[in-house]
Amino acid sequence: LSLRRIDEVEDRVGAFITVDREGARARAEELDKQLAEGGERGLLAAIPAGIKDNICTEGLLTTCASKILANYIPIYDATVMKKLRAAQAIPVGKTNMDEFAMGSSTENSGFHLTRNPWDLERVPGGSSGGSAAAVAAGEVFFALGSDTGGSIRQPAAFCGVVGLKPTYGRVSRFGLVAFASSLDQIGPLTKSVEDAAYVLQVISGHDPMDSTSADVEVPDYLSALTGEVKGLKVAVPRELMGDGIEPGVRERVLEALRVLEGMGAVCEEVSLPHIRYAVETYYLLAPAEASSNLARYDGIRYGVRAPADNLTELYYNTRSVGFGPEVKRRIMLGTYALSSGYYDAYYLKAQKVRTLIKRDFDQIFEKYDVVIGPTTPTTAFRIGEKVDDPLTMYLNDICTIPVNLAGLPAISVPCGLSGGLPVGLQVIGRPFDEETVLRVAHAYE
Ligand code: GLN
Repeated sequence: LSLRRIDEVEDRVGAFITVDREGARARAEELDKQLAEGGERGLLAAIPAGIKDNICTEGLLTTCASKILANYIPIYDATVMKKLRAAQAIPVGKTNMDEFAMGSSTENSGFHLTRNPWDLERVPGGSSGGSAAAVAAGEVFFALGSDTGGSIRQPAAFCGVVGLKPTYGRVSRFGLVAFASSLDQIGPLTKSVEDAAYVLQVISGHDPMDSTSADVEVPDYLSALTGEVKGLKVAVPRELMGDGIEPGVRERVLEALRVLEGMGAVCEEVSLPHIRYAVETYYLLAPAEASSNLARYDGIRYGVRAPADNLTELYYNTRSVGFGPEVKRRIMLGTYALSSGYYDAYYLKAQKVRTLIKRDFDQIFEKYDVVIGPTTPTTAFRIGEKVDDPLTMYLNDICTIPVNLAGLPAISVPCGLSGGLPVGLQVIGRPFDEETVLRVAHAYE
């Protein structure tokens, strides 16, 4: 079913970098046999899945949408892949993304564009744009994405699907190609909140292969979906409902809050004073970590190697042709922020502001159960509209970035249309309280 749908729409949508037809068929047949012989049924048995192309898949091309990894075939599976396979999901392919997950529109892919299934002239968001478009176009039932500053939630909002970023440490990052290691987290993009709960159930949990994965018990997420929000305390940050937010988006969010109030939730306006510095803070820390993480692409250990006469030239030529312009920009920004003489003024300062942002949330969560606002300030923008203007592109992540800096769980759930395009409602929770986040999103949905 999934492969047939891919045949129908993929040349218009362009959600995939690699479609693994033979692999998917073989796995489906094998599973059929197993189940026919009375084998046990996994939680995701026979469900077709898309996998963002920065998640390592054994024996299957994993490019991060970068020319520098155009030929990279991992010899191991990421932990999330092992878990998906154990739950009997069928990975059908690797989805398009911004190169190394740097971007908000999937226009930074080193290979091709992905189009928003709602309007093919618009971007699907990013960086997990391929994953969101694949789910929205019905090519797969769910997809995995990664979220460093909004890359699951923002494309989910733009494509009218559900996207969940778990708490930092909830899901193993082993086998996720690192962008900014202190912010990256893998999560599901799905059609419904219930589906998100299923996938989260499967991929969560402590992993000895990832020292930042948390040794915290994984609750039963499905039983959290009670439909009840009576008495729930909702904080609505003034900073996320102000002038920068498109009126149509703000209206949909206010309507959603009224729906929750109608169900017995108590919504109050609050202030998170330091999140106005979140974008600046993120664009120092994320590039700093990226510049260090991307040092490994030297033309020797992984991927593509450019011709050269000596070692320095080999590094230089490989990185010059292998990385696209946004990746180079980030490496330069990050290297600068970390360089001796500037470290205290930029990197260290940004770390301090990060702590202040985290504290803002801590204080709010002493009194409230969830924080709610829009996922994005606008609906999906046109292809080409922002690609030459990195600052405008960066500002599109204003609502999602604070959540990564604070390490919190958050979901984007569709909350109607504005100008015919989907709007996303963002529900943010306490650390490791994905249950409440799912419960509220499910009750609203
Ligand atoms: N759009 C943000 C960036 O360009 C976030 C990307 C992400 O979450 N991977 O860095």
